[in-house]
Amino acid sequence: MRLFHRVNFFQYTVLGFAVAAGLIWFAVFKVEAAGGLLRVHFFDVGQGDAIFVEAENGNQVLIDGGPNGSVLAKLGEVMPFWDKSIDIVILTHPHADHLDGLIEVLKRYDIDMVLETGVSHSIPEYEEWRRLLKEKNVKVVVAKAGQKVQLSDSVFLDILAPFGNFEGVSPKNVHDSMIVSKLVNGSASLLLMGDAEKQIEYRLLFSGADMDADILKAGHHGSKTSTSEEFLRVVSPEVAVISAGRKNRYGHPHQEVIDRLESFGIKIFRTDIYGDVVFVSDGLTFQEMP
Ligand SMILES: [Zn+2]
Ligand SMILES: [Zn+2]
Repeated sequence: MRLFHRVNFFQYTVLGFAVAAGLIWFAVFKVEAAGGLLRVHFFDVGQGDAIFVEAENGNQVLIDGGPNGSVLAKLGEVMPFWDKSIDIVILTHPHADHLDGLIEVLKRYDIDMVLETGVSHSIPEYEEWRRLLKEKNVKVVVAKAGQKVQLSDSVFLDILAPFGNFEGVSPKNVHDSMIVSKLVNGSASLLLMGDAEKQIEYRLLFSGADMDADILKAGHHGSKTSTSEEFLRVVSPEVAVISAGRKNRYGHPHQEVIDRLESFGIKIFRTDIYGDVVFVSDGLTFQEMP
C-alpha cells in the first residue's frame, strides 16, 4: 500500500517490555487514518487457510497462504495491481496447506515483516521459506502470546498463542505451536484459530485472555480435533468460518463440529460451499459481504 499512499509512510517502532510474562513485542504503525472500514477476506484456496486483512488506513496483513499459488489470484482481486507490498505476513504454523502459498507470495510481494514461531519442522518447502526470508532480508519476529500488533488507531491483533517460544523446538504435534490471534476493531472481534486443537482451546480458556468474539475462524478446517463445546460456550460467536477444500480427503469439516456449531445457533460460512467469505467491520460489528 505504501507505494501509493505517500502520506502513509510506514514506520513502526518495536518496543520490548520485559515483564513477568516475558518479553512483549509491540508494533506501532504511524499511519494517517484515511477513514473507512476493516475488511477481512477468507479466501477459498481449497484445503488450507489464507486470510487477508486490510485496515481502513490501508495496512494489510496476510495470515497463511493456502496450499498453492492460488492465493496470488485472490490477492490480485482485492489489491490494486500497483500494490506489491504487504505489511505483515503471519505463518500460523509450517504445514503445507498454510505455508506453500506464502512461498509464492514471498517471491512476488515485498513483505515488511513476517510473524512466525520458527518452530522446527522438516519439510522441503519450509526450508525454501527460510531461504527466501534470508535472501529477501525480511524482518522476522518470533510470535508469542502477549504481543500486540497495532494496525490502525482502532484495529489491532492480539497474539493469544503460542504460550512460549517455539523457535527451534520440535513439538510432537506442530499444532501445539499454533499462532492464535484475535483481530479487534472497536467492539468488533474475530478469533483466528489456525489449526489449533482442543488442548490449545483449553489453555486459552485458562489464560485469562478475553476470548469472547463475534466471529470464530474454527480451528483445523472444522476437524473434530478442534472447536470443543466448552470453548464455544466462552467464545460465543455469532458466526463461524470454516476454511476447507471441496471434497477434501480428510472429510473436513467433521459433521460433529457442524452439529455442535448449529446447536449453539452459530451461523456457519464454509469456503468449500460459499467460496471466498468476506466481512466488513465498522468498529461495532462485522457484516458479511455477499
Ligand atoms: Zn491446516
Ligand atoms: Zn496444520
